[in-house]
Order: sequence, then structure tokens, then C-alpha cells
Amino acid sequence: MKVIVIGSGPGGYIAAIRAAQLGMDVTCIEKEKPLGGTCLNVGCIPSKALLHDSYLVKLGVKTELSKMMNRKDDVVKGLTDGVAALFKKHKIERLEGEASFISDKKVRVGQKEVEYDIAIIATGSKPSEIPFLPFEKDLVVSSTGALKFKSPPKNLAVIGGGVIGVELASVWSRMGSKVTVIEMLPEILATMDPAISRTMLSILKKQGITFHLGTKLESAEKEKISLFDEGVRLKFGDETLVADKVLVATGRKPYTEGLGLENVGIKPDERGFIPINDRFQTENPHIYAIGDVIEGPMLAHKASEEGVAAAEIIAGEPSHISYMSIPNVVYTHPEAASVGMTEPEAKATGRKLITGTCSMRAIGRARCQGDTDGFVKVVGDEKTGRLLGLHIVADAASEMIGEGVIALNAKMTIEQLANSSHAHPTLSEGIKEAALAALGRPLNF
Ligand SMILES: Cc1cc2nc3c(=O)[nH]c(=O)nc-3n(C[C@H](O)[C@H](O)[C@H](O)COP(=O)(O)OP(=O)(O)OC[C@H]3O[C@@H](n4cnc5c(N)ncnc54)[C@H](O)[C@@H]3O)c2cc1C
Repeated sequence: MKVIVIGSGPGGYIAAIRAAQLGMDVTCIEKEKPLGGTCLNVGCIPSKALLHDSYLVKLGVKTELSKMMNRKDDVVKGLTDGVAALFKKHKIERLEGEASFISDKKVRVGQKEVEYDIAIIATGSKPSEIPFLPFEKDLVVSSTGALKFKSPPKNLAVIGGGVIGVELASVWSRMGSKVTVIEMLPEILATMDPAISRTMLSILKKQGITFHLGTKLESAEKEKISLFDEGVRLKFGDETLVADKVLVATGRKPYTEGLGLENVGIKPDERGFIPINDRFQTENPHIYAIGDVIEGPMLAHKASEEGVAAAEIIAGEPSHISYMSIPNVVYTHPEAASVGMTEPEAKATGRKLITGTCSMRAIGRARCQGDTDGFVKVVGDEKTGRLLGLHIVADAASEMIGEGVIALNAKMTIEQLANSSHAHPTLSEGIKEAALAALGRPLNF
């Protein structure tokens, strides 16, 4: 079976590999030179490289911004080259160029026409723009621009207090910028448990970032800020701020431009997402879609899980994704991580809940590291004792959250979490203690 995958991000390249493993003849079409999509080139990976290095700078390590940028670029190159090597290993053909559907079972890539039996669309997403504040080179940037500033902006305004806004605010604040975040909603990280939003706000404020919450940006005008430079005067509420750079991080939208969906009977929904059924199949039965271009959280690991599932379904194998146990992480310091239901979501199901919280102050390892900000919170069903959600603010929350993923997948009870031995001293003891607290028997606080 000839399968084409359009897009080589974490959805597309993983779908291509799994399809090849299952014996299909696979071609991956990517319009950019490097493989790896948003995640590897301008998303997860470069942002985490800068978050890592800027944290060391905050701790006192001396380096230059240009060296940090070079290291980030090397990390990206290493990983994108790695995808090319994986394609060779799995005998996946790589075609460079923009794919556009011509008709059912035929796609155009540049001058070439490629026939297929099955296509998987994995074209991802792109940053949303504010109509009265369009992107403008170096002055009004998306996350992509904010990953390559040549020097820390003096005054950086970040529009949007979601994950990307908060992570990049952290990077540039650590590098010496005065950072102001303007967020329309009354809290930052609004999709996470309210305890995380509250705690992270207080921690990030202490780190020197200014927040204006429940505040809508009303207007923006360019203004000369020095003989050579222009800045932007932003108006919101009763305030104005003149920023020398503005990062617009108000969200991303699915990317289907130029794909020729109209030629194959696929109509994106009103928000631009490609509609699919529970088998990732679009309105056209030969065409599947996965990742950011379909509904759901825009996360690399969600895209990859869908890539595997789509390939397995195409091969006629049973496949299932547990969306409830897809974790969500913010790579600030400390990190925030969440899996399963937040407390308000669990309440809304009508269940009676049990919850338990352990402050990281009670955890020996956190004290050894001098990283006592944060907590672990478990949310469970009182009747069945089952874990429903795990929410963490801690130094290594991104690693700790894996325990919650496995516990949710295994349908574990809070009692089982509480009775599992956790190595001492580790930050993950906070999970055991929070579970014990939910049962009314904490041992260390
Ligand atoms: C700054 C930033 C930080 C992020 N950090 C994280 C994180 O820490 N963790 C996390 O889970 N997620 C993170 N994300 C989100 C993550 O990057 C996306 O969810 C993920 O990349 C989506 O994968 P995808 O395969 O659906 O699409 P993408 O990675 O967007 O890949 C789509 C690919 O399709 C190609 N393409 C599009 N149209 C065509 C066409 N017609 N023909 C050929 N090729 C085409 C594009 O060039 C692109 O390479 C971050 C995003 C950003 C912007």
C-alpha cells in the first residue's frame, strides 16, 4: 500500500515510521528543508534549549547570548538530522516541496504528481495574529521570532499568558529583559488546575515578570523610541506601555493553506480544523488527519500518539489513544505539569471528590536542592478511590508527571499510589505524600 504523509512534524514523521514498520510503502512530503516540523525547528526543542541555558544564566553561569543561540541551533540540527537518518533506516522516501491535492489519490509536489492509496495530513499549525498588531520583522514577533532575538529586548511585552507566552517570558526575563505579560483571561495557564495557575502566577511575579490579567489589549501604535529604533505603544485598560519588542502568543491555528482540500471533498470547520471520525479519517475515506491540524490540545506527544494510531488503523490493527492521560507541561522554573482532570473538571462530572495536596517544602530532596516552591495535588473519585488527576508545580514536574500518566492508564486508585514505595530522597515522594494526604494520613507534614 502506497502511503503519503504530508508534514514531518512529530505527528507526520512518527506516522511515517510506524506505517513503514507495518510494511507500507511510505513517502513523507515536507515543504521545509529540515524535517521535524514546528516542534523540532521552532517549537518544543529550541524553546527548551533556551529555557535550560537561561536558567543557568540566572544561577550565575557566564555565557553570551550568541553562544546560547548557537547551542540551540546545534541541538535543533542534531535532532532534525536524526529524523532524516530514521527515514533512511525505515526506507521512507522524503520529498521536499509543498503538497497540494489535485484529485482523489493524486497530489502535486512542485512539478511532480504523486499517486497514493492513503494520505495522512499532518500539516500542523501556525501562530495566530492580532488584526491590529500584525507580525513585523523583529518588532512584533511570534514565538519563532522570540527564539532568535539578537539581544535581550529592554522592554518585552508578551500578549498571552498561556504556555508559550509564559515560557518565553521566563527566558527573556532571565536574560535581563523587563517583561510584561498582558492576558485577557483572569488567570495565566488557564487550562490547568486553578491551584497551578495561582501558584505559578505568584512564583513568576517573584521572579520579576509583570502581569496584567483580565486585560484586553485595545490598541497598538508604532512609535520612535530612539534615533534608529521603533517600538510599539500598547494600550490596555487604563494603562499604556511602550515596548521595544512585542511577542504575540495568543494561540495557534491549524495550517491547511495551499493543501487543495477542496479538490478532495474536505471542508475545514469554522476554526480551520480538519474534521475527522474516531479513526482519524476525514470526509474523504482515503485521507486521514492527525496532530495540530485536528481538534485537541496542540502538543507534540499528542500528535505522535495520533500518528501511531492512524498508521495502525490504516494497517487494520486495533489502536486506541487515551486522551484523558495526555500530560501537559510548562517548562518554567519550577515546572508545572498536569494530567487527567482538573478539580473543577472533576467536580463538573457530578462525582464526590477526594483531594490531597503536599507542599514541596515537606519533601527532603526539594530542600536539598533549594527548590521548595510548589506542590503536588491529587484529585480522586471518593466512591471508587480512583485517581482522576495529578497536578504538580516542582523542579522536575515534567518527569514526575509520567507517574500520573501510568496511574491513569492503569486505572489505579489513590490508595495504590500511596502504597507504592518511592525512592528517598526524590521529588516524586511528593506524589506519595499527596496521595496519603487525600486518604487523611500524611506522614511527613
Ligand atoms: C514555541 C513553541 C513551543 C512548544 N513547546 C512544546 C512543548 O514543550 N511540548 C509540546 O508537546 N508541544 C509544544 N509545542 C507544540 C508542538 O510544537 C506542536 O503541537 C507540534 O509540533 C504539532 O505537530 P504536528 O506534527 O501536528 O505539526 P508541525 O510540527 O507543525 O509540523 C507540520 C509540518 O507540516 C509541514 N507542512 C505544512 N503544510 C505542508 C504542505 N502543504 N506540504 C508539505 N509540508 C507541509 C510544515 O512545514 C511542518 O513542518 C510548542 C510549540 C511552539 C510554537
